[in-house]
Amino acid sequence: MNNKNGFLDKVVLITGAAAGIGEAAARAFAAQGAKVVLADINTQGEQLAQNMCAQGQHAVFQVCDVSNSDSVTALFAFIENTFGRLDIAFNNAGIDIESSKLAEGIEDDFDKIMDINVKGVWLCMQHEIQSMLKNGGGAIVNTASVAGLGAAPKMSIYAASKHAVIGLTKSAAVEYAKIGIRVNAICPAVIDTNMYRRAAAGDEKKAHRIGAMHPIGRVGTVEEVVAAVLYLSSDAASFTTGTSLPVDGGLTAI
Ligand code: NAD
Repeated sequence: MNNKNGFLDKVVLITGAAAGIGEAAARAFAAQGAKVVLADINTQGEQLAQNMCAQGQHAVFQVCDVSNSDSVTALFAFIENTFGRLDIAFNNAGIDIESSKLAEGIEDDFDKIMDINVKGVWLCMQHEIQSMLKNGGGAIVNTASVAGLGAAPKMSIYAASKHAVIGLTKSAAVEYAKIGIRVNAICPAVIDTNMYRRAAAGDEKKAHRIGAMHPIGRVGTVEEVVAAVLYLSSDAASFTTGTSLPVDGGLTAI
């Protein structure tokens, strides 16, 4: 078992773990010996956890809607009852909604995005911090976006939600820095997941345009994002808290 990051037997929660970046993170943590709790509203996560267990890894799935406080409370009761601790949390569940200029936005879309992307992260962080306070520390990584660092035309609600994730990240980082809880965010540009494939909608020209807007000339892979998550979760980042790390092929350098 590769334990180079010190994840062996650490209890790791990942939200939005049934697909995309969350799934890749779950696989990577488990491959390094962590006990991984996969949480998602999509019950396909159950099959994923079973497949991981069949490979000798430690994974368990819990259905959870991060925007619902009862559902989140039940998730953390499960973690407490099963493991009695939480070491690392990757708050990654999120949605985007295509795509209108601000004045044409729909109130229901606003509420849905804010409920999942912002309230979901906030609710999970509340429980995570309470649990980590009992352990004497821990590491939290939140999935923001390059849309949390600057403008996102026709995605203003999404951009607002990801700016809010960074606000939660920075504030909690400062509040809990002295008691050993580090809180950081990752800010991916476009990454090859269902979210991107839905946006490209099988249109090759559009997919090419999306890739070409990154200085590196392509969209990112889930593995490239997960590498940043593993770093921020590990002791290698012991002096890093409150940061929002772009994983963006140079996009925010332009
Ligand atoms: P994805 O759609 O492949 O996966 C998102 C997962 O979140 C899904 O499994 C989904 O079921 C789950 N989810 C959605 N609502 C949920 C809820 N209420 N409770 C629990 N789980 C829920 O997308 P992805 O690209 O892997 O996105 C992961 C995160 O990365 C999101 O926060 C997204 O905003 C962010 N992000 C993605 C990109 C990109 O280009 N793919 C870029 C920047 C940021």
